[in-house]
Amino acid sequence: MRLSHLFAPTLREDPAEAEAPSHRLLLRAGFIRQVASGIYVTLPLGLRSIRKIERIVREEMEASGAQELRMPILLPAEPWKSTGRWELYGDTLFRLTDRHGREMLLGPTQEEVVTLLVAGDLPSYRDLPVNLYQIEWKYRDEFRPRFGLLRGREFLMKDAYTFDRDEEGMASSYDGMFQAYRRIFDRCALSYVIVEAEPGQIGGGVNHEFMARANVGEDLFAECVNGDYLADLKAATPQPPVPAGRDGSAPLEKVYTPNATTIDAVSSLLGMPGERMLKTMLYDAGGTTVAVLLPGDREVEEAKLERLLFPAPVRRFEDGDFAARGFVKGYVGPQGLEDGVTVLADHAVRGASDWVTGANEDEHHVTGANTPRDFRVDRYEDLVALREGDRCPKCGGELRVGRSIVVGHIYQLGTRYSEPLEATFVDEDGSVRLYQMGSHGIGISRVLAAAAEQHYDEAGLRLPKVIAPFAAVVIVANRDHEGVVAEAERIYRELAERGVDVALDDREETAGVKFADADLIGYPVQVVVGKRGVAAGTADLKLRAGGERTQAPLADAAQAVVDLLETAP
Ligand SMILES: [Zn+2]
Repeated sequence: MRLSHLFAPTLREDPAEAEAPSHRLLLRAGFIRQVASGIYVTLPLGLRSIRKIERIVREEMEASGAQELRMPILLPAEPWKSTGRWELYGDTLFRLTDRHGREMLLGPTQEEVVTLLVAGDLPSYRDLPVNLYQIEWKYRDEFRPRFGLLRGREFLMKDAYTFDRDEEGMASSYDGMFQAYRRIFDRCALSYVIVEAEPGQIGGGVNHEFMARANVGEDLFAECVNGDYLADLKAATPQPPVPAGRDGSAPLEKVYTPNATTIDAVSSLLGMPGERMLKTMLYDAGGTTVAVLLPGDREVEEAKLERLLFPAPVRRFEDGDFAARGFVKGYVGPQGLEDGVTVLADHAVRGASDWVTGANEDEHHVTGANTPRDFRVDRYEDLVALREGDRCPKCGGELRVGRSIVVGHIYQLGTRYSEPLEATFVDEDGSVRLYQMGSHGIGISRVLAAAAEQHYDEAGLRLPKVIAPFAAVVIVANRDHEGVVAEAERIYRELAERGVDVALDDREETAGVKFADADLIGYPVQVVVGKRGVAAGTADLKLRAGGERTQAPLADAAQAVVDLLETAP
């Protein structure tokens, strides 16, 4: 590829709107351009990188027995209503209506389409297992798109769906995908961790996330300092704290707490630490009131609550809910709650006693609240949001919180979709059974952004050679010098003949601009052919990753590039 013919506009200055390094550098290096918030054009350089990631993904998918198909982006609402996701997705779903008034959506994922497809066409156990995948653009109406390709409203994904006869088969298909994902992310040279995760809006049971470590990552995970525990923060279960030595004999007493509607205010008014307060958080779960009890210095992990109460939609009480259901906002306590209220308590509440909590009366709290004397707990569950310094559930060691970008997520869905969609097959014994399914995604455009987050410096991108748009560039330092042009052209041709994915920078730009662009775009190996070198019979070679420079005789330059590429990350 001659860069004089390539549409690759680079920017000298950092774009003001870009906070994340990947966003800033992919814009500057001419990989992407924004069209609207969270929506980007993928420019030729960006598309070359995307295609390389796609190729790795396709090779590993095919090797694991998956078959490619292509499903529509524009989808009918009906199947989404059957599975409850038309509601569950809420405002993140792009909804539209066709000219006949039919409700439709832009697909954020394709379980409904593929389940009905397979059930309609594969009615026998003999056809199973099946693993179908596609690489397609997907849509989410993000409230606040940011970080470029990391959280856009349009994103490229590989999604695979597995169909099996039974749970054993599903687990085996899952394992196949698990291994394929490891190979894919290893080949993409990403630094990543694999964690047990929270199923979110996909639903189902066992699932793992492949998380690329990144400072800007919005997906947090908990990691034990002793290396024996890793989990998505939203699913991480800390070891419950050792109960405080209070005996639970304190009497229940009402105290006057004017204007103390927060844990901090009560805590300072009564001179007691936040962890002595019993926080009572109220939620609506499909019309039922749910009270969540936890120590005052902790927060509820709402993803855990949603999972626990699935499929009921869960929302925290809004101002109007308190009075409407007989609660005093800011002074809620678990004493005397009606039988219709579900009372859940975090494990941290078990064993502690003599709580300070709301008196269910304006401007009053109580001290010495104890269960079961003063309030009931229907179930103890893991409900706290884990925080740095919590104890590892395996060894009791300290947990640290790491940041990452989720680049892959695999799920064992069971019958989460086949049941509501009545997707069945006839088994060997003639019985009609539901498919055991799996759903497996990779964010292709995110892999590019994650690779950029992991590989850059002040000068620009340092993408690994398997992802970089070109493996090497030959820079014509003096375009007006015949010998330079002839040597550069020859090296470029030789490299192309040897199968190296090479670019020739033959643009009418100064050498300085070409060097800066070469670092910004991040060609893993750079060859500079200039006047002085040609006179001396040498070319200058540079490895982008470490910045090491070497010289090679002009005649051997192509071979030297091939050798250097071997060592490039
Ligand atoms: Zn541990």
